[in-house]
Amino acid sequence: MKKFIFLFFFTSVLFAQQNMKPEETEVWEPEPNVVTPGILFSPPSDAIILFDGSDFSKWQHQGSKDPVQWTLNSDKSMTVKPGTGSINTIEEHGSIQLHLEWKTPNVIKGEGQGRGNSGIYFQRRYEVQVLDSYENRTYSNGQASSIYKQHIPLVNATRAPGVWQTYDIIFIEPEFDSRGEPTKPGTFTVFLNGVLVQNNVEILGTTEYIGLPKTKRDDMPKHRSLLLQDHGDLVSFRNIWIRKL
Ligand code: MG
Repeated sequence: MKKFIFLFFFTSVLFAQQNMKPEETEVWEPEPNVVTPGILFSPPSDAIILFDGSDFSKWQHQGSKDPVQWTLNSDKSMTVKPGTGSINTIEEHGSIQLHLEWKTPNVIKGEGQGRGNSGIYFQRRYEVQVLDSYENRTYSNGQASSIYKQHIPLVNATRAPGVWQTYDIIFIEPEFDSRGEPTKPGTFTVFLNGVLVQNNVEILGTTEYIGLPKTKRDDMPKHRSLLLQDHGDLVSFRNIWIRKL
């Protein structure tokens, strides 16, 4: 009987998901307060440098061994080349501390999710949103420093477009048993421009644009690398390093 009820529940959730729209997982209230952030900092001695502006040697295009086609800039940064696809690190990672700096385009174009959109996917599964959220309203669980469609940031600590911003993120990876069933949820702690915006929040599963997070390991991307998203906008990145935890 129990099994039957579970099966019924599972199939009805699946069926309901197939008919879901993106808007059904958008949360607009509450809107995080605006906070003005402070200053930046540089890498510690035990950091693994993933990008220092000299080359893309630690990176490749998503799901391939192709060399990165994004733009390498003379100011030691990189910029998304729209349409070439997302890039991920060659190496996989477990629990890490990540530092990364990002900048949305000076020239404001589009609105909501269409303005300076990119993202950092941990293990290619869980996204911390990158977006121009400076005086640019969108759904709260989709603005910059949200855990996309899972957790609203505590405050909106974003800087203006065209200004470098910092992420310092502690990612603790989720745990699974030998069959790939989740046994312990992972967590995110996120500082945006030195301001705590996500305080040890539980990862609900994979980041999904439509529908609910996936929680079973076999339903998730296999190569657990760090990914930067090509969302069609000219977002730039620099000074990317991690520390293994
Ligand atoms: Mg994104």
